Amino acid sequence: MRPARALIDLQALRANYRLARQLGAARALAVVKADAYGHGAVVCAQALEPEADGFAVACIEEALSLREAGIQAPILLLEGFFAADELALIVRYRLWTVVHSEWQLRLLEQWSGAASIKAWLKLDSGMHRVGFSPAEYQAAWRRLQQCAAVASVVCMTHFARADEMGCARTQEQQDSFAAATAGLPGERSLRNSPSLLGWSGPASDWVRPGLMLYGMDPLDRPSASSRQLQPVMTLLSRVIAVRELAAGEPVGYGAQFVTTRPSRIGVVAMGYADGYPQCAPTGTPVAVDGQSAVLAGRVSMDMLTVDLTDLPRTGVGSEVELWGRQVSAAEVAARCHASLYELLCGVRRVSLVAT
Ligand SMILES: *Cc1c(COP(=O)(O)O)cnc(C)c1O
Repeated sequence: MRPARALIDLQALRANYRLARQLGAARALAVVKADAYGHGAVVCAQALEPEADGFAVACIEEALSLREAGIQAPILLLEGFFAADELALIVRYRLWTVVHSEWQLRLLEQWSGAASIKAWLKLDSGMHRVGFSPAEYQAAWRRLQQCAAVASVVCMTHFARADEMGCARTQEQQDSFAAATAGLPGERSLRNSPSLLGWSGPASDWVRPGLMLYGMDPLDRPSASSRQLQPVMTLLSRVIAVRELAAGEPVGYGAQFVTTRPSRIGVVAMGYADGYPQCAPTGTPVAVDGQSAVLAGRVSMDMLTVDLTDLPRTGVGSEVELWGRQVSAAEVAARCHASLYELLCGVRRVSLVAT
């Protein structure tokens, strides 16, 4: 079997979940959208289910695959529904749904099914992506509350810049939320990972940690809390061939790396079709049999090349960590000018191995 694999440390996942719940002093929906940020939604949800208050996914397809795998806990659809025919499924599979737009509200008002849906009404408190504006919010809340199919309404919003420590915009969004929801009964939900890790408030009945569950720090400067995170994924493969090259020889597509000395180049079974970013440049760190090494040459679809010249005891069969406990995923993301979110969500084709 091809040796490309991602070890998923379920103990670390559970520890990070507990940290989120403790920081929020609230119930926590574990966000497992996008296949749990590349970590495998089913295996992560199964590992968290005994203690998780619930889960959040982007859409009903993701929710149904969790239900099919036997997950019983509440599941929130963060983008809500896309068409009226999903409402019956939302009821049948006991899902919770975000309502972020007038057209969704209208579909709910027109829907005649008898039901008791928990609806999460989204406020656009300043991110300007989805949600009702502060001026529209209270009227939308009352219309939702009156829908025959709706049992309860949760007030929610989402922060745009909580990863920027001290950024005034986060407080402005909080103030906007407090003003727009003033006097409305029911639960509240704010707080994604950066809010939980970098800020002491606001109070929230439900928090929605995603990235931090996977042990990754979204903050622009680490906090005391974010230093407690434990990475969950270790992306591994092996050296499958070694080239001994003289100085001045090109390696890989486009000859983007040319040896400057007699070199040993290791070929690793891992490429951009596995989610390792093609934009990772020469010099990006890896670990080979536990020792530091670097990428040399452009990443191919199924393979990449590393410089083993200074690691004479490595060779075919040596284990290569692309990121995990030795090689920081944040460092790889930074080399690619990508976010940790994008890096992790890209992981595919490799076998996921729960540990
Ligand atoms: C993805 C998402 C989250 C989780 O965000 P993280 O930064 O990964 O913690 C929370 N809430 C909403 C609405 C989301 O879309």
